[in-house]
Amino acid sequence: MTSLNDPRNRYPKVEPPEQTQPHPGLDRDLEPQSDIGLETYQGNGRLKGRRALITGGDSGIGAAVAIAYAREGADVAIAYLPEEEPDAQRVIQAIEDAGQQALALPGDLCELEQCRKIVDETVEAFGGLDILVNNASRQIWHDGIENIPDDEFDKTMKSNIYSSYRVTKAAMAHLEPGSSIIFTSSIEAYQPTPTLLHYDMTKAAMNNLSKGLAQELAPKGIRVNAVAPGPIWTPLQPSHGQPQEQLTQFDEMAPLGRAGQPVELAGAYVFLASDEASYVMGETLAVTGGMLTP
Ligand code: NAD
Ligand code: MG
Repeated sequence: MTSLNDPRNRYPKVEPPEQTQPHPGLDRDLEPQSDIGLETYQGNGRLKGRRALITGGDSGIGAAVAIAYAREGADVAIAYLPEEEPDAQRVIQAIEDAGQQALALPGDLCELEQCRKIVDETVEAFGGLDILVNNASRQIWHDGIENIPDDEFDKTMKSNIYSSYRVTKAAMAHLEPGSSIIFTSSIEAYQPTPTLLHYDMTKAAMNNLSKGLAQELAPKGIRVNAVAPGPIWTPLQPSHGQPQEQLTQFDEMAPLGRAGQPVELAGAYVFLASDEASYVMGETLAVTGGMLTP
C-alpha cells in the first residue's frame, strides 16, 4: 500500500458557487468552507517559545499560519479589522486550545497609530516579539486604470504597503538576532492582471521591501523573506477580490487543476520562521500550484 498523497486531490476542488460578501469578507460565510488547518494541521514544536504577530490573522492564509504557529509552540497575536471579530474569535480559540497565549488586536492598519499599537501590545502581552508576518492586504478589483477610484487606490496602498512598512518599522526596536520577518506577496507580483493593477503593484512592492530589508538585516541576524501564494480559497476572493466570472473558474488558474487551501501555505510560513531556515533570507517562496515565478 502506498503512503503517497496525490496533490491533485489532496484537497477537493473548490468549485465555488456564485457568491458575494461585503469587504473584508468572513471565513464564516465562505461557500464552500476553506481549510485553515483546524482539523488538518499537526505541529511538531518547531517554534517552541516564540512570540508571533500576524496581521490579517483572522481568516484565510493568516488564520492558517496563526493556527500552525500555535501548534508549533508559539504565542500568537492576530491583527484584523473590527468587522472580522467572528472569524478572529475562532482563531483565538484555536490558539488557546493549542495551549498557547493568544492576543486579539482589532483595528484599521491604514492608521499609523494602529500599526504602532499592535506591536506595543504584542510586546507587552508576550514579553517580546520574535516573528512578524505582514500578511494583511486589501484586494478590490476594478476594470482597468481609468476605473480605479482614487480613494480605492489610496486605501489599497495604505492597507498593504504602508501597513507592512509601518508595522515592521515599529517592530525593529524589539527584534533580536534569530527573529524572522515574513511578507505575504503574490503570484500577482510577477503576473499582474488588468483588473488588479493597484493591488498587484503593492504585492511587487512588498516583495521588493522584503528583499531590501533582508540585505539590511542579515548582518544583524534577522531573516526577512516572503511567500507568494497562487490562487487560494479565502474570503478576500468573493468580497470583490475577483470578478464573478473569474471566481467561478478559480480552480482552473493553476496547472495543478484546483485552487489551494489556506492550510497548504502554513508549512512555508513555519519553515521561514523556524531555525531550519537559518540560511534562507531575501527569498520569495512560491506556493502557487505550479504557476511560475522568475
Ligand atoms: P483574507 O481576507 O482572509 O485576509 C486578508 C486580511 O487582511 C483580512 O482578514 C483583514 O484582516 C486584513 N486587512 C485588510 N485590510 C486591512 C486593514 N486596513 N487593517 C487591518 N487589517 C486589514 O484573505 P487571504 O487571501 O488569506 O489574504 C492574506 C494575504 O494573502 C494577503 O496579503 C493577500 O494579498 C495574499 N494573497 C492571497 C491570495 C489568494 O488567492 N487568496 C493570493 C496571493 C496572495
Ligand atoms: Mg478576514
